[in-house]
Amino acid sequence: MFNSLSDRLTATFKNLRGKGRLTEADVDATVREIRRALLDADVAVPVVREFTGQVRERALGAEVSGALNPSQQIVKIVNEELVEILGGETRRIRKAKTGPTIIMLAGLQGAGKTTLAGKLAKWLKGQGHSPILVACDLQRPNAVTQLQVVGQRAGVPVFAPHPGATSELEHPAGDPVAVARAGVEEARQKLHDVVIVDTAGRLGVDADMMEQARQIRRAIVPNEVLFVIDAMIGQDAVNTAMAFDEGVNFTGVVLSKLDGDARGGAALSVASVTGKPVMFASTGEGVDDFEMFHPDRMASRILDMGDVLTLIEQAEKSWDKDEAARMAKKFADQEDFTLDDFLAQMQQIRNMGSMKKMLMMMPGAQNIRQQLEQFDEREIDRVEAIVRSMTPHERLAPKIINGSRRARIARGSGVHVSEVNGLLERFGQAQKMMKKMAQGGGMPGMPGMPG
Ligand code: GDP
Repeated sequence: MFNSLSDRLTATFKNLRGKGRLTEADVDATVREIRRALLDADVAVPVVREFTGQVRERALGAEVSGALNPSQQIVKIVNEELVEILGGETRRIRKAKTGPTIIMLAGLQGAGKTTLAGKLAKWLKGQGHSPILVACDLQRPNAVTQLQVVGQRAGVPVFAPHPGATSELEHPAGDPVAVARAGVEEARQKLHDVVIVDTAGRLGVDADMMEQARQIRRAIVPNEVLFVIDAMIGQDAVNTAMAFDEGVNFTGVVLSKLDGDARGGAALSVASVTGKPVMFASTGEGVDDFEMFHPDRMASRILDMGDVLTLIEQAEKSWDKDEAARMAKKFADQEDFTLDDFLAQMQQIRNMGSMKKMLMMMPGAQNIRQQLEQFDEREIDRVEAIVRSMTPHERLAPKIINGSRRARIARGSGVHVSEVNGLLERFGQAQKMMKKMAQGGGMPGMPGMPG
């Protein structure tokens, strides 16, 4: 996500390290570098101009702080300005005061609307809401089926038109505005508190499509109209966003495909150009590859200051409390840490999602990005296979695992004996660490991460 922009900016700041004070020439040189980095990342020209102007003015201004050295000061300013262009404060979904909250999705075909509909629904469901999806994309032959698949994955119902229908309310086939209206009515009757309406997109901005979207908006009066934009589309993002803003007057932006290696700058410009905040980020094809967009945290990530808060949230979301309580009790009772516990911890880590994505949120991750990119997620599968090839007795008392047992375990799990050895070694270290923590009364951590 924004890797090259991130690299360029952090390299710029490195040049300033060690300087006692910044001359006007230093500031100008730095601002020039920042400008180039932003332009190369596809950030829109007016946004770049505004951004660098602010940074220059503030860097030269009176903000001299005793606590920060000049390079830190520039990072602080750039960080604050980045937060600003990303929309300032985190914006949450506006809920309806009465009746269901209506969220309409708009954007070009392929932007990721349908995928997002599922992600959003699942996320809202996880917060105790009962969303329903409404399929208003009647343009693309497969769109309705696709939404049904997405709904199934998210575990939420989908309201879709019936083909070959006659009466408007029951069978509003063919007319997206009627489907939207009927979908909202369905939500009211079945007491869903959120309706997510997926609309049709075209490959380019098109007057008919925009008119249709406008009519849907008028018919259902949504609480939010989210404009979904593919972060990979480059400079066109800004023009597309402006066309949609004029057409449907959206209330928030969703950046999709942020997992790709797109330069992403154009997408970053959308909030600034339209004055509408980025509310969500879509980061993959899976139904959980989705996060709320926090401008401050994203700025930190771009400047390689890490995003520890998102990391913690992801961990909390997937942390199995019963399992954690079980471990805590084991500790209190000073019981031995076994290979079964080791496996359980691995699985907890895996539940947190892609290891790579998680690690990339750590401060300083950019420095070890290459290693992280080579990180093999299947390592955890191998650990699991190895432990599962052991007998229950071996898992409880790994000391008995001698050479011939190792060979058997390796065969059973389809790995080389050296991998079994490596795992047992790591487990031994983890066990020692756990023992130390138990004696010292500390909390169990997460030992044994594949290395
Ligand atoms: P729509 O036409 O706007 O409804 O777009 P879709 O939801 O059908 O998405 C178009 C394609 O992009 C599909 O192949 C999706 O799997 C893919 N896609 C959507 N969101 C993401 C994302 O965040 N990351 C990646 N890598 N692919 C995505």
